[in-house]
Amino acid sequence: MKDIFISKSRYADTTFDSYEKYKKAVLLGQLCLLISIICVAYVILDSLLGRFQVVPYYLMCAVTSGLVIIINRQGHFKLASTIFLSIMILLLYVFTDNDQALIGTHMYLVVYGLVAITLYGYENIAWSICFLLVTLVCFYIAYFADLPPIIQAPPLTEPLKQTYFIANFFIILSLSSLLVFFLISINFKANKAIWQKTQQLSKANNDLDRFVYNASHDLKAPLNSLTGLVELSKHSQDLAEVKTYLQMMTKSIGNLDTFIHEIIDYSRNAKTELKLEKFNLLELTKDVGDALKFSQGFEKVKMIYSIPTESLITSDSTRLKVVLNNIIGNAIKYHDPQQSDPWVMVRSTIHTDKLMIEVEDNGIGIDDQYKPKIFDMFFRANDTMKGSGLGLYIVKETLEKLGGRIDLTSQLGKGSVFRIELPLS
Ligand code: ADP
Repeated sequence: MKDIFISKSRYADTTFDSYEKYKKAVLLGQLCLLISIICVAYVILDSLLGRFQVVPYYLMCAVTSGLVIIINRQGHFKLASTIFLSIMILLLYVFTDNDQALIGTHMYLVVYGLVAITLYGYENIAWSICFLLVTLVCFYIAYFADLPPIIQAPPLTEPLKQTYFIANFFIILSLSSLLVFFLISINFKANKAIWQKTQQLSKANNDLDRFVYNASHDLKAPLNSLTGLVELSKHSQDLAEVKTYLQMMTKSIGNLDTFIHEIIDYSRNAKTELKLEKFNLLELTKDVGDALKFSQGFEKVKMIYSIPTESLITSDSTRLKVVLNNIIGNAIKYHDPQQSDPWVMVRSTIHTDKLMIEVEDNGIGIDDQYKPKIFDMFFRANDTMKGSGLGLYIVKETLEKLGGRIDLTSQLGKGSVFRIELPLS
């Protein structure tokens, strides 16, 4: 329905500013429609009463409304508002000037004053004041100046005067209420948007604090260990010992490298826009599996893919890769060394509008007490394996950006299943 007055695509931008402009454009369209309906009703009423002299003026109002709706639909909201207010106030002056019987026509000037304030808003306060002054001048001339009436219509009888007055009262009350309601709703939405932004900012601030604290530790630990190993190597004469130190250094560098990659993944997800493209899910998952070939424990774990060969989907492949890399990587990393046949299975099913991916393992599993915190930043439920505790946090943040979600079923000593749900565009 709102698309009749303005095409939403003209304000596709999701910022509040744009949303407010869009709502104002819709309001202008609604006002034009209402005024046209009122004019048609008055045309019928006055024609029945033989007051044909007023009919052209009502028709002018209706035609102006139609014209304004067209200009507004083209996206020229400000021009449409200015034309609307200028012509309508002028026509209203003619009616007010003719309102010798005092049937409440001049009160419509108050409505147009309110319309000017609502449409132009605080950012165009000068225009609002300008139109308010015009309504004041019109009222002054029509009410106080002793000019002959512009429309020479036959006078109304006493009961008709009362009917017109009551009808005008209700129309003015409805229009004013519509405007006040509009302003309240815009204000409410603005407050809500500010509140949401504040929540996001305070979350980002808390995350940043914790991030700096933990990251400095995670970056320093491998560097400290490297410094220590370099010192030990310097003083060692034994080649075998130096080789062991070099292996330990490689491990520290590997930890540092993984951590830096995780930071890059996190930042990329937060900063870059979604990039939707068509890709084959099986190929993408196998690529992820292949890239994990050199991770610890990979050689012991059997990888099983149960994904249809022709599974073409549209999503952000870079982000989905990050998600799968972390979950499959964890399933390999947290395999059970006591298990004779460790495996990781990746399954997928496509429903009409969503993609389900399950990553199941028969690894060490997760204790119930840790499950609620498993997706928190820097949370680790295992001390035996090295890690930053960022992986599942990145998974959760990335899926949020993709409009998806993740849940977990796990039993300590038995294994885990991570279930991803993604909307398909
Ligand atoms: P990291 O692996 O760096 O510790 P993650 O955020 O990826 O951090 O995982 C958080 C914790 O969740 C891990 O420390 C681990 O205890 C647990 N975890 C994640 N995936 C699995 C899994 N497949 N099996 C068992 N435990 C897991």
